[in-house]
Amino acid sequence: MSEMTRRNVFAAAAAAGGLMTVAAANAPQALAQTQAGAVPSPLDGKELPSFRFALGAEKPKMMDGGHTKEQTAVNFPVSQSIAGVLMTLQPGTLRELHWHSNAAEWAYVIKGRCRITIIDPQNHSQTVDFGPGDVWYFPRGFGHSIQSLGPGDCEFLLVFDNGYFSEFATFSITDWLAHVPQEVLAKNFGVPAATLAGFPKREVYMVKGPVPPPLPADPAPGSLDVGSRTHRYRLLAQRPKTYPGGSIRLASMREFPISTTMTGGLMRIKPGGLRELHWHPRADEWQYYLSGRTRMSVFGSRGRSRTDEFGPGDIGFIPRGYGHYIENIGNEDVVVVLAFNNGIYESISLTAWMASNTPLLLGTNFEVPESTFANFPKGETTMPG
Ligand code: MN
Ligand code: MN
Repeated sequence: MSEMTRRNVFAAAAAAGGLMTVAAANAPQALAQTQAGAVPSPLDGKELPSFRFALGAEKPKMMDGGHTKEQTAVNFPVSQSIAGVLMTLQPGTLRELHWHSNAAEWAYVIKGRCRITIIDPQNHSQTVDFGPGDVWYFPRGFGHSIQSLGPGDCEFLLVFDNGYFSEFATFSITDWLAHVPQEVLAKNFGVPAATLAGFPKREVYMVKGPVPPPLPADPAPGSLDVGSRTHRYRLLAQRPKTYPGGSIRLASMREFPISTTMTGGLMRIKPGGLRELHWHPRADEWQYYLSGRTRMSVFGSRGRSRTDEFGPGDIGFIPRGYGHYIENIGNEDVVVVLAFNNGIYESISLTAWMASNTPLLLGTNFEVPESTFANFPKGETTMPG
């Protein structure tokens, strides 16, 4: 091998190494192309991956005035389409004015109280207080803030309809203004540049402040420019649909019209109760377990199924179209927050499907006498107990 050839080989190897580094750095983007068929999906293997992610075991990111834990497609690759964040704010702490370019934001308040402000593209704005069991929905790109009202910390769950969303890659007002020359800001706001001298030179993200006064019970005449659709839905206050095995509350676009890309829910499963075998043809399902112990089994075709146990602080994910069921395996009620990445809620019940076919067909299908099906349910059971 001549010296020149050897040098070329080294150069080629170095170039290849460099490319591999770039490829590794782009791994999340590459995975994002899964549905386009560019790279293998985490669901393509001979065995199904776990559909459980222990958010409770994650180390919180501590900040002045609060903390967060985050699940994305990077730390939980099966959840390509949905990300979740658990956030806690101390009384008065403000999650600063920001927006998300790549996801809508759905939230469920677990404890405490907080106030949100939001603006939409028609310049309608809303300022609303939230308490436990309340849900919000912010369409992609709408500017918003969240402030804890006390007494006590406010804890809430954020769910985003993009697995590659990151709570730490949002568009923050301080970050933007820190990167605009002061003379431009002076012109923009029509104030002397000196007025802006004290603005932070970095992203604030979370900041401690005074607890704001209560909102007026009756807004002053002419003081509001609110759109026709509210951003708040009182999910826990909704009368649930009840079944022998538990109850379900849902906030789809039908109950909560602004929630066009997501459906939220709160499901309670009694001890011994079962969320029956079913699937969702046009939505992925994301879950956050608040209490109790369950076993969830997911069927992924080609002889593959996966069963995991879930407890408080765990996230579950079920890809669209995958069959599943959930059993309460403990002595206390299971309470789980549900989120689907479709504003229209729909599911297909295996029992209803079988009931819609004749015993003759079922007998042939299962290779048993048709009398076997005499006492099967005549339709969807949802949650047998
Ligand atoms: Mn947000
Ligand atoms: Mn389901």
